[in-house]
Amino acid sequence: MLTLTQGHLRQLETCPRRYQYTYLDHVTAPTDPAMLERQRWGTQFHQVMQQRDLGLPMADLLREDPALETAVNGLLAAAPELFGPQPDGFRQSEHRRTLVFNGYGLTAIYDLLVLGATSGQIIDWKTYQRPPNAAQLAQEWQTRLYRYLLVETSALRPEQVSMTYWFVAPPAAQGPPTPPSSITISYTAAQHRRTEADLQRLTDTLTALLATGNALPKVDLAQGHCIHCPFAVRCQRSSERYGLEGVMALPAIADIVEIPL
Ligand code: SF4
Repeated sequence: MLTLTQGHLRQLETCPRRYQYTYLDHVTAPTDPAMLERQRWGTQFHQVMQQRDLGLPMADLLREDPALETAVNGLLAAAPELFGPQPDGFRQSEHRRTLVFNGYGLTAIYDLLVLGATSGQIIDWKTYQRPPNAAQLAQEWQTRLYRYLLVETSALRPEQVSMTYWFVAPPAAQGPPTPPSSITISYTAAQHRRTEADLQRLTDTLTALLATGNALPKVDLAQGHCIHCPFAVRCQRSSERYGLEGVMALPAIADIVEIPL
């Protein structure tokens, strides 16, 4: 059975071909080194938060990166209620939930899940510099899928579930560190029904597309997604990304650094 995470759903909805390249064909897209460094820092931050929640020592991880220690301490100070003891509830970091839905395994991994008798709080750590606004976040598949799965796999009603994003900025090149900030998104029964209908539509579409045995379709060029896509050359849509009728601009031969063999 194919697993569908929020990342799969987002790519499937943006462009089925991109979903195919990334998750079915496992094609590696060229990645910006600065983005890789941000991802490395984000992964380390998540690791430290998980170790802390499990009561494991964090000193070794923090000693290697003082900016990480500043960020973790900033978060602990900004949201102490999240880290205190919860004797009557349930809390777990990196908590996984799966639901079989229309032939697929819908899956979420919550950075932190805090459950009470009548409340469910999903917490997600984001290591972005600039947080998006609440309306944008509410439309994200991560927000939609995570709340949907919690309601479907617990006794909670939609109104009893919320999702909070905590934004912890990676170290800035200069200036004081940005303090953590948060956005909480609530949930309603109407949103739950809408998400279910969209999941049904997307999974029906995927099943029908896979049954043809053909490559999954490319998104309509006019939607503008190709311009940001790392598969633009593979899709012969590089003119959208690089301009010049698809020809990538190369420096003059004399300017290219020679690599000794
Ligand atoms: S270049 Fe365009 S069509 Fe090709 S995978 Fe990317 S978004 Fe889809």
